[in-house]
Amino acid sequence: MEFDTLFDAQLDTLKEEGNYRIFANLERKCGAFPKARNHSDGANEVTVWCSNDYLGMGQHPKVMQAMKDAVDKCGAGAGGTRNISGTNHAHTALEAELADLHGKETALLFTSGYVSNWAALSTLGARLPNAVILSDELNHASMIEGIRHSRADKVIWRHNDPDDLDRKLASLPANATKIIAFESVYSMDGDIAPIREIVEVAEKHNAMTYLDEVHAVGLYGPRGGGVSEREGLADRITLIEGTLGKAYGVVGGYITGSDSLCDFIRSFASGFIFTTALPPAVAAAAKTSIAHLKTSQIERARQRRQVKRLRAMLDREGIPHLDNPSHIIPVMIKDPVKCRMLADILMADYGIYVQPINYPTVPKGTERLRFTPSPLHSDADIDHLVRSLSALWKQCALARAIA
Ligand code: PLP
Repeated sequence: MEFDTLFDAQLDTLKEEGNYRIFANLERKCGAFPKARNHSDGANEVTVWCSNDYLGMGQHPKVMQAMKDAVDKCGAGAGGTRNISGTNHAHTALEAELADLHGKETALLFTSGYVSNWAALSTLGARLPNAVILSDELNHASMIEGIRHSRADKVIWRHNDPDDLDRKLASLPANATKIIAFESVYSMDGDIAPIREIVEVAEKHNAMTYLDEVHAVGLYGPRGGGVSEREGLADRITLIEGTLGKAYGVVGGYITGSDSLCDFIRSFASGFIFTTALPPAVAAAAKTSIAHLKTSQIERARQRRQVKRLRAMLDREGIPHLDNPSHIIPVMIKDPVKCRMLADILMADYGIYVQPINYPTVPKGTERLRFTPSPLHSDADIDHLVRSLSALWKQCALARAIA
C-alpha cells in the first residue's frame, strides 16, 4: 500500500495543474453515428464531436459485414504471431491493398499506428549505418519514442520549415544515413506539411523520407492515399506510414515502401514479429474500408462540406478557431482548467461531447477543444453546436474573435 502514496503524489500534481485525464465512458450507437450513450452520466445520448473515426467508416454497413463474415469464416483471433501460425490470408490481402493505395511495392501491418512508428523508426535508426534521424519538432509521441529507442543521433528541425531542415542536413557528416521523419496533417493544429519542399531538400541531400499520413489516409487524395497522393508525391517518399484506426474506422497500423525496406523491417523489428497478429476480421474490415474509399468520393465531399459549414458558422459567432487547410477545427481556450470546465458544461448541459486537449498532448497555454466534423454530422448537429458554444461564450464572458 505504501507504493500508492508514490503514485498519488504525481497524480495529485497532474490534478492541480488541470491536466488529469478523465475518459468519457461512451457506448457508440451503431447506425446512429456520431451519437453515443454517455455512461459517465446516466447513459444520456450525446453527439460526439471529437472522434477520429473521421468518416464514420467504423459503422459503414460494408465494413461491418466484412468483419462479421470474417469472424464466421476464421473465428475471433489470428492464432499467433505473424511468424508462428498467425499470418492469415486476410492480412496478406490487406497488405496488398495498402501497397496499391500508396503505389508502393509492399506494405507491412502492425497492431496500431503507434506501434508501426515505434517499430519502424527504432529499427531504421538502430540498424542503418551512422543513422541520423531528422525529426520535425511537432512529431507525434510514437515517432519520438521510436527515435529515442533506436539510440540513433537525432536532430530536431523547426516545424514545417524546409529551410531549417536544409541547413541541418548540410551540417551532417557525409557518411551519415539521413532519415527525415515528419507528418502530413498535424493532428492538433490541423496544419499540413510542405511535402514537396521537404522532398526536394531530402533529394538534394540524399536523405530518406519517412512520412506519417495517419491523419490523412482515407481523407485526402482521389483514392484516399493521403496528402502525398493528392500532391503526386507518393513515389518520391521512401516510407509512408498510416493507420487503420482513424478514417478507415477499424484498428491497426502499417508502413509501405520498397520490397527491401519492408522485408528489412519485417525481419528486424521486434514490434512487428513478437506480438500476436491482428484478428483476421479486423484486417478484412479494414481492407473493405480502404477499397470503398478508393472509389467513393461521397464521404470525403460531405465531410469537406460540414467542415466548411462549421468554420463559417463559428466565424459568424466570433468563436476563435485556428485557421488551417484540413478537416480539424481547434477552438483555442489557452487554459487547462477553463478547457476542462467548458467541455464539462457542453457535455452536461448541451449533450455535446468534445474532449479537452491539454498538456502534454499540446504545449501549455495552447489548450483547446478540437472538433472533427464528419459526413454524418447533420446541419442540425452543427447548428446546435454553434448555438451552444455561443451561449457558453456569453455565459463565461469569453473573448470573441473580431471579424
Ligand atoms: N501518428 C500520429 C500522428 C497520431 O496522431 C497517432 C494517433 O493519434 C498515431 C500515429 C498512432 O496511431 P494509432 O492510433 O493507430 O495507434
